[in-house]
Amino acid sequence: MSEASGGSWIDTGADGELGFGLDNLPMGVVALEGRGERIGVRVGSCVMDCRAVVEAGLFARLDSRIRDSLTRTTLNGFMALGQDAWREMRGECRRLLSAATPDLRDHAIRNAAMIPQWGASLRLPCEIPDYTDFYASVHHATNVGSMFRPDQPLLPNWKHLPIGYHGRASSIVATGTPVRRPKGQTVAQDAGPPTFGPAKLMDYEMEVGALMGTGNPLGEPISVSRALDHVFGLVLLNDWSARDVQKWEYQPLGPFLAKNFASSLSGWVVSLDALAPYAVPVPARPAGDPEPLPYLRHEGDRLFDVQLEVSIASTSMRSAGTPATRISLVSFKEMYWSIAQMVAHHTSGGCNLRAGDLLASGTVSGPTPESRGCLLERTWRGTQPITLGDGTERKFLQDGDEVIMRAWCEAPGKPRIAFGECRGIVMPAIV
Ligand code: CA
Repeated sequence: MSEASGGSWIDTGADGELGFGLDNLPMGVVALEGRGERIGVRVGSCVMDCRAVVEAGLFARLDSRIRDSLTRTTLNGFMALGQDAWREMRGECRRLLSAATPDLRDHAIRNAAMIPQWGASLRLPCEIPDYTDFYASVHHATNVGSMFRPDQPLLPNWKHLPIGYHGRASSIVATGTPVRRPKGQTVAQDAGPPTFGPAKLMDYEMEVGALMGTGNPLGEPISVSRALDHVFGLVLLNDWSARDVQKWEYQPLGPFLAKNFASSLSGWVVSLDALAPYAVPVPARPAGDPEPLPYLRHEGDRLFDVQLEVSIASTSMRSAGTPATRISLVSFKEMYWSIAQMVAHHTSGGCNLRAGDLLASGTVSGPTPESRGCLLERTWRGTQPITLGDGTERKFLQDGDEVIMRAWCEAPGKPRIAFGECRGIVMPAIV
């Protein structure tokens, strides 16, 4: 109850330490015992069941279109209403959950509407019509490029446009969903013949995903200066990758089966308004780098200082109660291309984005070994294994390994903002 905003009647922890105080209020979809899937707002260690609040008449101040969208089982309808509606909802949630507001605090439905988050199983926040994956970290692109093309780590286009490919939306799963090791074609040497079997070089990629709120009509690009107004919020994404499959299949059209067997999404969508205190300027391009073309040029605070952490816990660590081992920590502000530039570039040729579309950043890596966002880089193709808390070494993921991604923002004098977790356990391949 020590937030500048005056605190909530829900316990949000000393100094908002949980990162889910009134300054955050992320939205998501949870499955509740006996109620099915509900749109929820996370506050402290509770989830507010929005439909229950609507049905009790406590969202009467909201526009009826907003109220109606909150009774659905996905966020798509609410997301499509646009930034004014998102802000109206956020403001009303702040009011209802503030310590001084008795409406819900003293109402008979209070306990039914405020569910402990451990009793609420996170689902995907929305239906995802399309998923695009970028490659926008210069550290990641340079590291991976230098492993495969030491003479020319970055191809000539890389610093002129945010490189991306159209990914697979049907296999995006919610945090906590086990992920099966894929089978695929791999080659022992660089040029076949291939064999078919379980991928050996299974990896994760720590990424940030932008979920689109309002899209754009076909043929009408979104300008870089307005791009963030279209973004409903950010989530964490684990873009699981089979490196041996990827190496054989990726030329000439890019990633395919190495990436489409599963991608895991965290459940709580953190709004850009909540992240505003952590928006930082896009730095000047390093000397020698080209200036972005005018349609990609922007100024101001367009990057976000979000701490991104990856940990791994093996099966034996989990059964022994050994804490997961931190593998990397990096800030999202290290990106070369911003989300605004990704949105502007994606739509610049006329492509239409829709509510719920997912634009992922690509692996977020920083300049140091400890800030590399996938095992391919972190272990440098397996040549520098890392040691887990149980003493075992990892070059790539083993069956039973749980990958845990967390993200948060914190700085002196600012509210802590948490994203929650994106978890997944690697299951053996189907025999
Ligand atoms: Ca990726």
